[in-house]
Amino acid sequence: MEECIFCKIAAGQMADYKIYEDEAIIAFLDVMPVLPGHILVVPKAHVENLEAASPELLAKLMAVIQKLAPTLHSALGAFGFNLAQNNGAVAGQVVNHLHFHLIPRHEAKELALWPGKSYAPGEAEAITEKLKQALS
Ligand code: AMP
Ligand code: ZN
Repeated sequence: MEECIFCKIAAGQMADYKIYEDEAIIAFLDVMPVLPGHILVVPKAHVENLEAASPELLAKLMAVIQKLAPTLHSALGAFGFNLAQNNGAVAGQVVNHLHFHLIPRHEAKELALWPGKSYAPGEAEAITEKLKQALS
């Protein structure tokens, strides 16, 4: 894939703050962190988004995330972390090479999460029905 920034990082063609690497996955610091220690966990092979990834690749990505998570506590003193994955431009995906954001958290007030809303009467039932039909 031409000009894909994460393909270049995976190929070792760019300076990066690499933390972890195996045959399929690379993890490095996000260059514009939401909070210090913000890590991106990325498959080396170019896969555009979550839907395009195989279950086997997703399992490998999750295993690496699970391996890195304790280091946020032990190395950075984090008390928790957020795991995020932006899928599609409308959801904020800017780099079209699948990646998971692992964001260490020290206190609740350092980052505002998305607010919850209420459903209108009947709306949740209608959405549930549509989703169930799509699955069947
Ligand atoms: P997303 O909005 O989910 O596509 O996130 C893309 C992320 O990639 C952003 O948080 C960027 O700061 C990060 N990013 C872009 N280029 C680089 C780079 N060369 N090295 C590290 N992180 C990068
Ligand atoms: Zn790529």
